[in-house]
Amino acid sequence: MSELKLGIIGGGQLGSMLSTAAKNLNIKSVVYSDDKDAPAQKFCDEFIFSDYNNKEKILELVNKVDVITYEFENIPFETLNEINKLKPVLPKPSVNRLIQHRLAEKDFINKLNIRTTRYVSIEKKSDIETLEDFLPGILKTTTMGYDGKGQYPLKKIEDIKSLNIDFSRGYILEKLVKLKKEISVIITRFGNHSYEIYEPIENTHQEQILKLSKIPADINKKILEQSIDWAKSIAEELKYIGTLCVEFFIDRNENLYVNEIAPRVHNSGHLTINAYNISQFENHIRAVCNLEKIPLKKISNAKMINLIGKEIIQYRENPKLNENEFLFDYQKTEVKEKRKMGHITTLI
Ligand code: ADP
Ligand code: MG
Repeated sequence: MSELKLGIIGGGQLGSMLSTAAKNLNIKSVVYSDDKDAPAQKFCDEFIFSDYNNKEKILELVNKVDVITYEFENIPFETLNEINKLKPVLPKPSVNRLIQHRLAEKDFINKLNIRTTRYVSIEKKSDIETLEDFLPGILKTTTMGYDGKGQYPLKKIEDIKSLNIDFSRGYILEKLVKLKKEISVIITRFGNHSYEIYEPIENTHQEQILKLSKIPADINKKILEQSIDWAKSIAEELKYIGTLCVEFFIDRNENLYVNEIAPRVHNSGHLTINAYNISQFENHIRAVCNLEKIPLKKISNAKMINLIGKEIIQYRENPKLNENEFLFDYQKTEVKEKRKMGHITTLI
């Protein structure tokens, strides 16, 4: 039996599902989070609650584990870099530094000759005045955004008058794509040209929050192949180890764009728990812990619905499900509007 111990930085639902996957592989998990109510503490073997800059507590984590990974992007690079001097951090900290900055991330993708939306760096409000060409567009913070937070739609130049934001944080303005569809590709890279790839997943958002994911995605062969090809190029170029997700837009003319990269397991991949022999979480653990790579086999088509805010309540009160339905309650104590509380996967 393996005696391996894995450290996971971040304690949200992704941390919970990673801990569960680790447990199934006989690997102990220690979750570190700056949220004392972090849901993952209910799923892991040990929990450390402290700030991401607390050197003493971080050292406590490092001393307890053999390898360290993370479940969200917005961890200070310095923290990951310091840990990496003592124990391996996977994916490597430089990947996280690149991807946690929207501008650096998009520049990186374009250098690979992969299409992104058109974007421009914004340093002050008046920069936008000459950028009519980028409207309608979305102003986004370069760092710390998620689930549409830190995003401001702009239809016309005059809209900037009502913007009351601190531009010193750094923004980009992105041209709005006339969306036909959104898809994602999840890939686990184990080493040089060694991958397992899940088929593209079709995603529907409501108010910029993922609501529904399904496989198979209703897309043509060219888009299917191009999205997989681009995800492979990105993972290879980053020399990535672990599970990574690439989010794509498809416009009304069937052009494919990379929207963003998530250097971690991803909400759209929750259906892999029930629809594949190996989930995105198990594959992440297998890759970062250097375990055997097992060929992926799809078990079933599937759809996943996120339960947001109060939507969880009816399932908590009456968890009656059909045989092909699987409920995941993230066991978050506080039910908050726009907060992901759980999900249901249906095999179809
Ligand atoms: P987050 O980091 O919050 O996930 P995203 O950049 O992925 O931010 O944006 C969230 C969602 O908002 C996207 O999945 C998409 O539905 C919509 N969106 C964002 N940027 C654009 C764009 N340039 N054109 C069209 N839709 C967009
Ligand atoms: Mg996104």
